[in-house]
Amino acid sequence: MIKIDRVNKYFGDNHVLKDVSLNVQQGEVVVIIGPSGSGKSTLLRCINYLEQIQEGQIEIEGRPIGLISKNGKLIEMPQSEINEMRAQVGMVFQGFNLFPHCNVEENILMAPVTLNRVNKQEATELAHELLQKVGLLDKVKAYPDNLSGGQKQRVAIARALAMKPKVMLFDEPTSALDPELVGEVLAVMKNLAEEGMTMVVVTHEMSFAREVANRVLVMDDGRLIEEGPPEKIFSHPDNPRTRTFLSKVLHCE
Ligand code: ADP
Ligand code: MG
Repeated sequence: MIKIDRVNKYFGDNHVLKDVSLNVQQGEVVVIIGPSGSGKSTLLRCINYLEQIQEGQIEIEGRPIGLISKNGKLIEMPQSEINEMRAQVGMVFQGFNLFPHCNVEENILMAPVTLNRVNKQEATELAHELLQKVGLLDKVKAYPDNLSGGQKQRVAIARALAMKPKVMLFDEPTSALDPELVGEVLAVMKNLAEEGMTMVVVTHEMSFAREVANRVLVMDDGRLIEEGPPEKIFSHPDNPRTRTFLSKVLHCE
């Protein structure tokens, strides 16, 4: 579903992604952990082409995203193709980025109606279905300011799903939440995983990783330094840097 092949990404002189390769199968849930600044967000943003890579290739279902190789050079795809491909990759950020002047339903309808040009009736039905799925059907006309952080994040998930993505990317979706609201968001994500959604999740919620992830990847200083099933990574990781990182995060739980 996602193929990341020897990707390198720089911000100026800062080499942020170093030869990163990763394949994600359909229906797989991959959790990425690692210290702050190791490149986790940048990697997700490259998958969605919110950032450009300088070397390598990223493909979604066999199609390169954003850049195509022509005569050995990477050139940008036409904007219409980029938009179409980006719509296949849903993204949920730490901050909810809901439009404050739009109610829940309008927030969910905005992208599918304006970008996909689906008919409004159909989009509305889907929006209601998705709100039901995330347990917020009663908030359909509510405004973001009147929702808790956990509710806003569940709306953000519904909004991403409204584009019918093939893949969902989550960048620390619960980091900004009060602890008592984390569970409701993780429960929605767990449901989604059980329904077979392909997911790449950056999170420090190790219990979620243990329970839901098929694979855990560890990033450090722009590289994927270790990967394996959660039981292995959390109980006997091979890389000493993984052990150092885990000893820092696990004692907080
Ligand atoms: P993580 O999500 O693992 O904390 P990031 O992907 O946010 O790491 O950051 C990786 C590196 O890239 C850091 O050195 C960070 O300072 C740098 N970086 C991230 N975004 C930008 C940007 N828009 N411009 C310049 N440097 C950036
Ligand atoms: Mg980050």
